[in-house]
Amino acid sequence: MSGLGKGVTTSSIAKLLQLADQKVSCIKIDPYLNYDAGTMNPIAHGEVFVTEDGGECDMDIGNYERFLNQNIPKSHNITTAQVYSAVIESERKGEYLGACVQIIPHITDEIKNRIRKIAKDENLDFLIVECGGTVGDIESLPFLEALRQMRVEEGPQNIVFVHVTLAPSLDVVGEQKTKPTQHSAQELRRIGIQPDFLAVRCTMPLEEKTKVKIALFTNVTSKDVLSCHDVKSIFQVPQILYDQGIMDSLFTKFGKVGMVNASANWNKWNSIVESMTNREDQKIKIAMVGKYVTLADSYVSVNHALKHAGAKIGKSIEIDWIDSESINDFNTLSNYDGILVPGGFGARGSEGIIKTANYAREKNIPYLGICFGFQLAAVAFGRNVLNLKDANSTEIEPNTKNPIVDLLPEQKDVLGMGGSLRLGANDIVIKPNTITHKIYNANTISKRHRHRYEINKQYIPEFEKHGLIFSAESDNGKRMEVLEIPAHKFYLGVQFHPEFNSRPGYPEQAFEAFVIAASKK
Ligand code: GLN
Repeated sequence: MSGLGKGVTTSSIAKLLQLADQKVSCIKIDPYLNYDAGTMNPIAHGEVFVTEDGGECDMDIGNYERFLNQNIPKSHNITTAQVYSAVIESERKGEYLGACVQIIPHITDEIKNRIRKIAKDENLDFLIVECGGTVGDIESLPFLEALRQMRVEEGPQNIVFVHVTLAPSLDVVGEQKTKPTQHSAQELRRIGIQPDFLAVRCTMPLEEKTKVKIALFTNVTSKDVLSCHDVKSIFQVPQILYDQGIMDSLFTKFGKVGMVNASANWNKWNSIVESMTNREDQKIKIAMVGKYVTLADSYVSVNHALKHAGAKIGKSIEIDWIDSESINDFNTLSNYDGILVPGGFGARGSEGIIKTANYAREKNIPYLGICFGFQLAAVAFGRNVLNLKDANSTEIEPNTKNPIVDLLPEQKDVLGMGGSLRLGANDIVIKPNTITHKIYNANTISKRHRHRYEINKQYIPEFEKHGLIFSAESDNGKRMEVLEIPAHKFYLGVQFHPEFNSRPGYPEQAFEAFVIAASKK
């Protein structure tokens, strides 16, 4: 089922292989009919993760990037829509002329081709393919069928299956129930796949007798029944799997016995995990004011980025999510060391964001605004400092007389909503002698984007006259990328999404600067 931890399991296995000096990458298969995650509500599906090459992907891609400290291209997020579109397009071109086009073999071939192409093009030693959904779901059947075929075609020494299951504890004594695992493994076998490993999610470590029982019912040896119990940080999961012997067993199955783990890699990784887990002294309290706060996963990369930054300076971060639509007592924000407004779309909840950005400015509370939080900080400044009472973004009020934020000119003729925003990495030029330049210590940076609106350049002279500087731009000065208020304790807005570049051990600089400012009393 979703939320079980397939992404973390996948990332952890990939990490272990990477620590053993193997060239690895991951693929996420999403069996839904959306072409990509871009059009999905983050409250239902979690954050839309944007890749360097402009993919709007499932948030698991973010887990892979953070665990592996490696960029993952958008081709690594395969959906039903992409596979079917490609097959239907080929059929229309006449590429299967004479054939009756079917799920098997045409759809399954397309799936296998995509997987093989990535492994080959990227010259990988190992590719971990995560298949989303639940075994037995109609949607995921063609994918599982393709994977079954691949094992036959590539041989068992080249492909192993890891099945992620659940062992719930039902009573106070905490007896671990094995039925869901038994039945799910049985369902998988019915499809023709015998798992080599079971990664069993549970609250407490799986008892030996439970492993033996699961092994008996599932045809998996008990040493390959792996306990994936709850831990403080997801970055501890590779160690847990390693301690249960997964690497020896994996290498044995792949006929690579005798492979060793590179200890230097482990030292670096362990020190990162250590920094991410042991920080109890000072807590930095951050208010995250946004639109999609009912699901923590809506802003998962932002949460991670804050934690990476906290770990770097040895502090833990406590995040409170505040709904921008229902907030009315803005004074509660004075209890926080910093205020962060993440990305968002549409009018609902936007007034609360504008007031939040203004409150942070007036009360000298460190503020980091990302994308929507950048645009609406400019609107707040327009209304309250430049005295343009009706200042707004045309996304919120199309007829405003003071469109401080307006549609990107090239977006004016765009009709469809899918994949049509300004997406992916773009170069950004930073002006010298600015706070932004100090933060990045560079003249040019490259950051990922996902937006349709931008700062209206017409207002810049007024802004700058009143102490708000646009300190970085892109596309030869066409677009404003960063705003800062030098007289403020810390007030930064960024049009790009710095959260997607943050990795454990290597926090993104804007987050680091924000957290440092928030840590100062
Ligand atoms: N809605 C704004 C835009 O489209 C901001 C987007 C975002 O925050 N990702 O420009």
